[in-house]
Amino acid sequence: MNSSASSIARCHLCLWLLAAFFAAASAHAQPYVPGQTYFGRSNYIEYIAGNLPFIISAPHGGTNKPAELPDRTYGTFATDTATDTLARTIRTVFTNRFGGLVPHVIICNLDRDKIDCNREIIEGAQGNTNTEIAWNEFQNFIATAKQTVSNQFGRGFYIDLHGHGHPIQQLEIGYLLSAGELAVSDATLDAGTNYSGQSSIKELDQRSLSSFSELLRGPTGFGSLMAAQGFPSVPSQAVPDPGTNSYFNGGYNTVQHGSLLGGTISGLQIESNYTNVRNNSVSRTNFANALATALDTYFSNHFAMNLHDAAPAVTSLTNQTINASGSVGPLGLTIADSLTPLAQLVLRAASSNTNLVPLANIVFTGSGSNRFVTVTPVPYGNGSSTITITVTDTNGGMATASFTLTVNPTGSLPLLTAVNYDPARTGLNFRLVAVAGQSHTVEYSDDLQAQIWNPLFSVTNPAGVLHTNDKLGTNNSPRFYRVRQEMSP
Ligand SMILES: [Zn+2]
Repeated sequence: MNSSASSIARCHLCLWLLAAFFAAASAHAQPYVPGQTYFGRSNYIEYIAGNLPFIISAPHGGTNKPAELPDRTYGTFATDTATDTLARTIRTVFTNRFGGLVPHVIICNLDRDKIDCNREIIEGAQGNTNTEIAWNEFQNFIATAKQTVSNQFGRGFYIDLHGHGHPIQQLEIGYLLSAGELAVSDATLDAGTNYSGQSSIKELDQRSLSSFSELLRGPTGFGSLMAAQGFPSVPSQAVPDPGTNSYFNGGYNTVQHGSLLGGTISGLQIESNYTNVRNNSVSRTNFANALATALDTYFSNHFAMNLHDAAPAVTSLTNQTINASGSVGPLGLTIADSLTPLAQLVLRAASSNTNLVPLANIVFTGSGSNRFVTVTPVPYGNGSSTITITVTDTNGGMATASFTLTVNPTGSLPLLTAVNYDPARTGLNFRLVAVAGQSHTVEYSDDLQAQIWNPLFSVTNPAGVLHTNDKLGTNNSPRFYRVRQEMSP
């Protein structure tokens, strides 16, 4: 026994262009709880998860020398004394300053005799498997922090924290530019991208309204902001370049995790002096307070970000399954933000399958913290689509909630739509939303009154959306099309 149904697409072979666009949105679940500490194997590497757009790493402060790891035989071995403790103080001071928001902190607890987490893995781990595990954990925690910051804010800042033993008691700020490169004039630094393009703040230079030389050593540059807090720095307004004095300009981590190689996380290296920075707990707290004040201004000026404003929050959504021609919702969404008024939070939607769920079929209602989303798939379509809801605050902070919408084909009819007419190549193009498990025949007629239908295209047991075309279609006279659906035997 056969059952038959048809839908007719009437078309004067006019252009009917379907603009399908695909909005990708990353929606990784965040497995790390801000403020909690996570350890790699044997507690060698430590990660304090954060929710600020700021990441700090301390690769050279560790003092642990476990017997299972062999001593390194070449490279540099000096410990950057108390930089691990300083990183923890920075975490505490920032959390108090920014209303409970936490920076991302990555610390290597191993002595540099055992590992160097600011060199490539060959020199850093020197072939030992367990040392390589720790080295990779250090790098991966930074990568995880960067991904979290990117997801939550779209951009952010990274500092690799070190300590130097040079005689001049100043912070050496490394942007991957040598002392000689910093010795050129501001005009030369600002000409084109010769200098900014090889720096660790390459992306920030494009984002900030300030010139590159301003970022390096103008009044709102990082070095000048730290100097204004009582921590002399080079480069800065007062000390625009190191001259012939000893100077570290940034190492492996600054290359890997600033924006030189891409991305929207810019960064720098701080080589800190000992006295007044690291030598006791009062110094460390003073330095951490100065860094918080400097970065508060720096983010505001150059990232257009308010460090006191956390990323918004949105409740999660559960996956949904409906029958064809149904709709989903309204599904409740509870949204929140630390500073941005709720009315100013912007909700956007993305659909991974715009054939099934066009963006125009996703509607938001509600106000305040209680919002609702209603999703209507294409009538008679079937398949699945990931619907991602993004909530953005005025600070650029983002949160996402997503769910998979599955549309069953049960009881559905096929849908035939003319998509466009391309006389030079394929003729008239169709989009056929087929019904799984059944056979379909697309037919055309040049004489609707006489009901003369000719087969154009047949398909049995198709899946989802198909495309076909009529090469014989002309632009001169009306032609009619229909699709016949018959149950497969
Ligand atoms: Zn170091």
